[in-house]
Amino acid sequence: MTDKARILVVEDEPEIRRFLETALQAQGYVVESADNGALALKICKGRPPNLLILDLGLPDMDGQDIIASLRDWSQMPVIILSARNQEEEKVQALEKGADDYLTKPFGTAELMARIRVALRHAARRQAAASMSYSYKDLTLDLERRRVLLLGEEVHLTPTEYSLLAALVRKAGQVVTQKELLMEVWGKNAEENDHYLRIYIQRLRQKLTDDPLYPQYIFTEPGIGYRMSEEKEALDG
Ligand code: CA
Repeated sequence: MTDKARILVVEDEPEIRRFLETALQAQGYVVESADNGALALKICKGRPPNLLILDLGLPDMDGQDIIASLRDWSQMPVIILSARNQEEEKVQALEKGADDYLTKPFGTAELMARIRVALRHAARRQAAASMSYSYKDLTLDLERRRVLLLGEEVHLTPTEYSLLAALVRKAGQVVTQKELLMEVWGKNAEENDHYLRIYIQRLRQKLTDDPLYPQYIFTEPGIGYRMSEEKEALDG
């Protein structure tokens, strides 16, 4: 999938643009390019690419504004191109939501490495956000933060939801007490095992899960908990 990703190159310097097009096509990417910001935004809105390579200095608009505008509605990975000694610009772009940057001049190997990392992160983000868990009568939609039991909404407190989501994200695997405490209550809660016992008990009640004959949340004595393993990854 990664090899067929569509990449939009936004760069007004013809030489760099051609270098990028050639290098990316050689790696099997489908490349589109734009030499100004307005065209770039038009392409992004019409048919969003899988990744955007963006020069910050464009003739018609500042690349920073493109990032800001894009982030209103899209999480597509953005790698910015900037000149040396423009640290402030890079920081600003990263804070606006760019994923990474390349400093001109850059080599093909570095370019490809950055692209692979950015695409991998994006895929992971999407998989995590669009995952929904479904097992027997229980459905959990991680994207919408909804929990359904026999089609009826189960009302969980934010803490109960975080705990259930942490278990679901690793369904089928043991999640240790320490992992759960750190993920749900934060770094300083590692020793507070009793929180976990109390909240697991509440979750089981709300999910009508019998601790002696559980369907959903299994206790791994002395280690942690395990969520029943059937899950579906829905591509979003
Ligand atoms: Ca430029």
